[in-house]
Amino acid sequence: MFDIVCLDLEGVLVPEIWINVADRLKIPALRATTRDIPDYDVLMQQRLRLLDEHGLTLQDIQKVIADMGPLPGAREFLDWVRERYQLMILSDTFYEFAHPLMRQLGWPTLFCHHLDVDASGRITAYRLRMKDQKTQAVRRLHELNFTVVAAGDSYNDTGMLAEADRGIFFDAPQSIQQQFPQFRATHSYEELKQEIMKK
Ligand SMILES: [Mg+2]
Repeated sequence: MFDIVCLDLEGVLVPEIWINVADRLKIPALRATTRDIPDYDVLMQQRLRLLDEHGLTLQDIQKVIADMGPLPGAREFLDWVRERYQLMILSDTFYEFAHPLMRQLGWPTLFCHHLDVDASGRITAYRLRMKDQKTQAVRRLHELNFTVVAAGDSYNDTGMLAEADRGIFFDAPQSIQQQFPQFRATHSYEELKQEIMKK
């Protein structure tokens, strides 16, 4: 049995934040995710530029996110994990965005990043605590002699999945699954539970 379960956030426990923001604010170009643009910095610079062009503040985006809610069954799945394992969510989102969703998930441990926001609410920059935080976090857990099972749905998870003792895809697009056939593909929390429990 593994010690720690590391989970991606968006696409695994909550909807894709930027896609929802894009649809509700009717800015199609904001729909791009790491599934479309694997280089995270290129993607983020594009997002911040689009927000600026539309005059959108952090408060505008927080309103949209507060209405999204987690994916159906996510809270129950997390409760199942936390009864059996230590849980850590490793995400490339930002605390400023995730906060209302974390409330609905029961405040699990979340490692992610921060935004810089000026007095008017304009998002001026993003601050990654380090490059490829997800992979580095799993590596450090290994140095502490923890065994790790990790699950995610996209390119920015593949380093974490490779570093873990077992890496699992959850609802990943078929094109990404085909590029990384070494990771078992799951499409429901029940399937994910089964893969986590295998030894
Ligand atoms: Mg994801």
